[in-house]
Amino acid sequence: MDILKEIVKMLPPNSISEAGFEAANIVLYTKDADFFLDNRGEIKKLVDAFKKRVELRPDPSITLGQEKAEKKIRELIPAEAGVDEIIFDPERSRVIIHADKPGLAIGKQGALLRDIRKEVLWVPIIKRMPPIRSKLIEGIRATLYQNSAYRKKFLDRTGHRIYDGWIRGKKSEWVRLTFLGGARQVGRSCIFLQTPESRVLIDVGIDVTGSDHDMFPMLDAPEFNLKELDAVVISHAHMDHTGLLPYLYKMGYNGPVYCTTPTRDIMALLQLDMVKIQHGEGKEPIYTSEEVKQMVLHTICLEWEEVTDITPDVRLTFYNSGHILGSSMVHLNIGNGLHNIVYTGDLKFARTNLLEAADTQFPRMETLIIESTYGGRDNIMTTPQESDNRFVELVQRTVERGGKVLLPVLGSGRAQEIIVIIDRLVREGRLPKIPIYLDGMLWDITAIYTAYPEYLNRVVRKLIFHKDENPFMGEIVKRVGSHKERMKIIEEEGPCIICATSGMLNGGPSVEYFKQMSSNEKHTLAFSSYQGEGTLGRRIQGGEREITFMNDGKMQTYVVKMEVDRVEVSGHADRRELMNFIARVQPKPKRIITMHGESSRCLDLASSYHKTYRVETNAPKVLEAIRLR
Ligand code: ZN
Repeated sequence: MDILKEIVKMLPPNSISEAGFEAANIVLYTKDADFFLDNRGEIKKLVDAFKKRVELRPDPSITLGQEKAEKKIRELIPAEAGVDEIIFDPERSRVIIHADKPGLAIGKQGALLRDIRKEVLWVPIIKRMPPIRSKLIEGIRATLYQNSAYRKKFLDRTGHRIYDGWIRGKKSEWVRLTFLGGARQVGRSCIFLQTPESRVLIDVGIDVTGSDHDMFPMLDAPEFNLKELDAVVISHAHMDHTGLLPYLYKMGYNGPVYCTTPTRDIMALLQLDMVKIQHGEGKEPIYTSEEVKQMVLHTICLEWEEVTDITPDVRLTFYNSGHILGSSMVHLNIGNGLHNIVYTGDLKFARTNLLEAADTQFPRMETLIIESTYGGRDNIMTTPQESDNRFVELVQRTVERGGKVLLPVLGSGRAQEIIVIIDRLVREGRLPKIPIYLDGMLWDITAIYTAYPEYLNRVVRKLIFHKDENPFMGEIVKRVGSHKERMKIIEEEGPCIICATSGMLNGGPSVEYFKQMSSNEKHTLAFSSYQGEGTLGRRIQGGEREITFMNDGKMQTYVVKMEVDRVEVSGHADRRELMNFIARVQPKPKRIITMHGESSRCLDLASSYHKTYRVETNAPKVLEAIRLR
């Protein structure tokens, strides 16, 4: 069945000038202005009949000229809405209007939007202007609009793959997963899903702690062929889930990547940062900013709980996983209900200072794949109150000594959570008003957090909407951009908190600070994330106090005299939460697969699930495959 022809046939003759796909959505263009403004319920009829999203847009030939349209739009929207940038997407007859107060630009029950449509014959889309400007977000936007013609073709091609019917042999019923990375280990998460019709990768991470041969997922596994890949699904932006993604484009992949909007922005930022760091270290990066751009061009963003076909027999829905901004659990409905998989990605099953707890309700689920970072029997974390208290004490005693606190953090998540905690503790009078320095990229990530408040928990969301209460814009939050500024903070500044990447002290500015600060017993080094095996962070946590670095070709030893401690702000569920999650989750899975944890933790968690819930469990190794049906 040619769905586009069927749809056009149902509409008044000659009303549609062009019909096409935007991935799983159907877009119709009309030259009839009256029909565009009032389609008399015809489009709703189509949506009901085909159960697809259908959008009607004006044909580009009837839209008002851009200059005139912009003038008109600015006249129509009241000044209080704070209209900023207006961007036209002529290929798709859309105009994106950025405003400080989107509600005022939309008008009561969309009244203003209707006026704009009528006056300019464009489809207006109102977006919130992020309170912190970010070059990265603006760069991503520019990439998408400058390549609007290619983007339109790509989305149409993606739609054809979904709707044009089966291309791979006869209809049989089987589902198979191969674990290409991140199984019985943390790092390089990558799962390959095969069905009779589809080839899908879920996460494409790198292991930043690995050596050359085990840093990347096993894309050379015999069952995997990049040329046959239909789609990539990304759970969240951390590099152990997205680090190798641009490389696929370098190798010739030109299909879609599905994720949430914050995930797209944060992963692009982290990947660009890695390219920059590798250049700085004189290494040949595995890909360049050009491939990151290619990835952005091929990314299709979905909201949580938005159901979308991604191939003829796989339907995707994201759910909140509570881990970092935009982080998602991946629900895959295969073969129209034949088998349903939930992959948790990284999971937090408690409300944090930033995010709501992970969702637990799914329409259907037979197989659950769950992370096991803290899946061991003894991996119990302190309560938020306790960790607040310990953090306050740590900062207080460092400040009393006249020292600074160095917090090595992952790019996304912990630094922003720490800002919110400190902001609250300062407001409550429990901490002195000392500056928090965000090094380099952390500032840009923070800007992304403020750009998508709808992904944060209710409390922080409210704070962000009030300029004076936005914790990320408080006067104590400061940006560090250069080596010179870093040295100034270390040498001249008084007590302060410094957040810098990387979180495991394996490269990045946190190592620069560490070298300068380690020998001074006034300072404190506080780890806040999981420390991978073999990393400098893990060695220091394990008690090593003499660290040798190669500086300009010379070996130099640093004696660690600063206090070493940790701050418990984990974005991962601990053992208790992992057990609770299964107790709460609906419906109950028939099989649970554990991954993303050290071997003993994956095994321990799988065995506890088996004993408690009498379900089939697996803790596969890398390269192992499981047939689900
Ligand atoms: Zn993560």
